Amino acid sequence: MTEPLIYELSRPGRTGVDLPDPDVPLSDLPEEWLREELPLPEVSEVDVVRHYLHLSQMNYAVDRGFYPLGSCTMKYNPKVNEVATRLAGFRNLHPYQPEETVQGALYLVYHLQEWLKEIGGFAGVSLQPSAGAHGELAGVLMMRKYHLDRGDTKRRKILIPDSAHGTNPASTTMSGLEVIEIPSDERGNVDLAALEAAMDDTVVGLMLTNPNTLGLFDEHLEEIADLVHRHGALLYGDGANLNALVGIAKPGEMGFDVMHFNLHKTFSTPHGGGGPGSGPVGCVERLVDYLPGPIAAIEPGSEDHPEGPLYVWKMPAKSIGRVKAFYGNFGVMVRAYTYIRMLGTEGLREVAEHAVLNANYLLARLKETYPLPYDRTCMHEFVLAGPPKDLQEKGIHTMDVAKRLIDYGFHPPTVYFPLIVPEALMIEPTETESKETLDAFAEAMLKIVEEGREDPDLLHNAPHTAPVRRLDEVRAARKPILCYTSLA
Ligand SMILES: *Cc1c(COP(=O)(O)O)cnc(C)c1O
Repeated sequence: MTEPLIYELSRPGRTGVDLPDPDVPLSDLPEEWLREELPLPEVSEVDVVRHYLHLSQMNYAVDRGFYPLGSCTMKYNPKVNEVATRLAGFRNLHPYQPEETVQGALYLVYHLQEWLKEIGGFAGVSLQPSAGAHGELAGVLMMRKYHLDRGDTKRRKILIPDSAHGTNPASTTMSGLEVIEIPSDERGNVDLAALEAAMDDTVVGLMLTNPNTLGLFDEHLEEIADLVHRHGALLYGDGANLNALVGIAKPGEMGFDVMHFNLHKTFSTPHGGGGPGSGPVGCVERLVDYLPGPIAAIEPGSEDHPEGPLYVWKMPAKSIGRVKAFYGNFGVMVRAYTYIRMLGTEGLREVAEHAVLNANYLLARLKETYPLPYDRTCMHEFVLAGPPKDLQEKGIHTMDVAKRLIDYGFHPPTVYFPLIVPEALMIEPTETESKETLDAFAEAMLKIVEEGREDPDLLHNAPHTAPVRRLDEVRAARKPILCYTSLA
């Protein structure tokens, strides 16, 4: 990093802003709150602008280029979503405002709930949870409460396939239930025999991702749903990535009893860096009373509002309670509402069609060169088993390919996940990319293989063009440097 950081530009007395005279009386803060020794930088306005613009340019973003991070659905987020969120009537709301003063916001929440019910094939939806993992936790707590309310107290286990996202066992463990891992078969489906052997009357439910994290639609979904229900258990759907199904097939009609959506994936709200997100949970009729709340409902025209229905917040009858302060991440809901409204029924269907087409196109371009562990038509994403064998024998691994892609201006795919594929390279192009972009990425992937054959160190030492070279990622996670430290 050659450019000085803002702390190094500080000069005593330099300021970037003149505050207006206060229009409220001044009061003295307690002495002990004033810390003279805080090294706040004293800089001009242009220093601040350059500092933040420079930092933003050191980062990679979906607005800069292709971002095929599998399982994360890094589609383009239309700017009209941002315009809608910034409308004063949405932006300036306060959660303590009386319901009758926020009817527009409640209308939006209500209709987003209705659309997600329609998209998912469910009887009820709550927008409370603020991420996918959070929606999973809510869904698992709903399943647990459902069984307990029926006096069915033996159930303590959640079955989870070995291809699952790490949040599945994490949220289950947080709910106090036990995780039982179910292996996959040689075609990447849930191993039916293993599932059957694990099913008994101590199972709360099966938590299934479909299409799974291999990008494959389980070929025995109906049998799985029957098997789970025959044992009195419930079928949980991890619907974080609905990009292959949206507008085409409804999980609620496939046998799923409860499922979370990720508005920040399928429904185009920006994500990464920890949020904000939104992980609404939907469910079939027999679970609606357990949904977290409050949820938006219609109160039939009352005396005070003879002109029509009044939108209100309601707590479901046997709700697991609140899982979030106030009403969930409202700004994310406005974006998702705008996105769905913009696309309509036809547009949503096209999202799924193009997402699946784009993934299969890339798969077809790469599978002759990169090993493919499950040779099937994929859904919205696919998983390769690292670079070709001859490169792996030379010590070139998935991480080297991923880092070299940065030099070509692409964000790397997801690596080393799902865990059941050694050297996994998980690629999700999304529907928002053109054929030209997909071709450029495929050509870079193929070129990297040639480079690896000629000069393995070119890959081992990549990236060569990024602001920082290869990081010690374990150390960065375990011992992060969170405060500014002088490089000098
Ligand atoms: C992203 C994802 C999750 C978790 O969602 P968060 O919003 O990151 O908590 C869960 N399952 C799958 C399959 C995912 O892709």
